Amino acid sequence: MLPRAVMQKAQNELVDWNNMGVSVMEISHRSAAFQTIVEQSEHNLRELLNIPNNYKVLFMQGGATAQFSFIPMNLLGDATTADYIETGVWSAKAIKEAERFCEVNVAATGREDNFTNIPDFDSWQLNPEAAYLHYCPNETIHGVEFPYVPQNGDVPVIADMSSTILSRPIDVSQFGMIYAGAQKNIGPSGIAIVIIREDLLGKASALTSDLFNYQKVAEQLSLVNTPPTFAWYLAHLTFEWLLEQGGLEVMAERNERKANKLYAVIDESELFHNPVDKSCRSWMNVPFILSDESLNQRFLDEANAAGLVALEGHRSVGGMRASIYNAMPEEGVDALIAFMKAFENSI
Ligand SMILES: *Cc1c(COP(=O)(O)O)cnc(C)c1O
Repeated sequence: MLPRAVMQKAQNELVDWNNMGVSVMEISHRSAAFQTIVEQSEHNLRELLNIPNNYKVLFMQGGATAQFSFIPMNLLGDATTADYIETGVWSAKAIKEAERFCEVNVAATGREDNFTNIPDFDSWQLNPEAAYLHYCPNETIHGVEFPYVPQNGDVPVIADMSSTILSRPIDVSQFGMIYAGAQKNIGPSGIAIVIIREDLLGKASALTSDLFNYQKVAEQLSLVNTPPTFAWYLAHLTFEWLLEQGGLEVMAERNERKANKLYAVIDESELFHNPVDKSCRSWMNVPFILSDESLNQRFLDEANAAGLVALEGHRSVGGMRASIYNAMPEEGVDALIAFMKAFENSI
């Protein structure tokens, strides 16, 4: 979900933005008015994440999935191999795309554990010659989240933060590049954010379109062509909302509290079960299965009737999943917990 306050602000100014008598969707992306969104959104994101000056912020299209290809296209340079950690569906997709471009070394995989755990760092087969090390800090579908940032000497670390960005403070300087599709914690789909250390720019392969070339996008301030202006505007409103909430420390406290109370109820219950190792449970995506799977549909139907929607687990893992992103208020989690307890009592 998106923050209700953001949606209401967008609604209020939908047909008359900035006292211009038109919608933000109807003005030129090169106008001075839209330029204020371009500048303020970057400024606010930098403030929220405390992004160092030697990192560029790019607003791109194609979602996080397009980045799975843009990363090898832009970052391999003369190298022929890259390291990937496989911890779930999204890192597996990133691997599959990268295999078109280079030799992929899957340095560790959680596949044998059905992606319910992160392989012990000491067991990783890291390559010191790798162009980069790619991993997914929060696997959205499996609900597996890294409690640390892996490092391999000078090898740049690339993180797909689509479902965890802005959920808490991070130390950007530990990463070569961070990227995220917008539609989990930022705004509507259609935009992806890239935060990249400057020394990694300028290595794109000759076949890379300017639109996908991080250096060109950086030089042209993310306006190589017409961006998804409405999605960008909503992302801008979300960044403002996050600052109004008190920034990422406040969000982290809230998110941790939300997740902990939901896991506590699942762990106490006879009916609900979360398969993920306690050391790496996600704050954002809480999957749970019912010990009696024949109750799945009844659970979903009754949840829907109680106004609790989008709880069905991803088709690849089944069961249920509660995605409790930044915009989900604590009352939303409380309502889910009350419903789960009542459901368990009723069977
Ligand atoms: C949702 C998601 C993606 C895919 O995002 P798109 O914008 O649909 O391409 C990639 N990685 C992670 C971790 C995700 O959660």
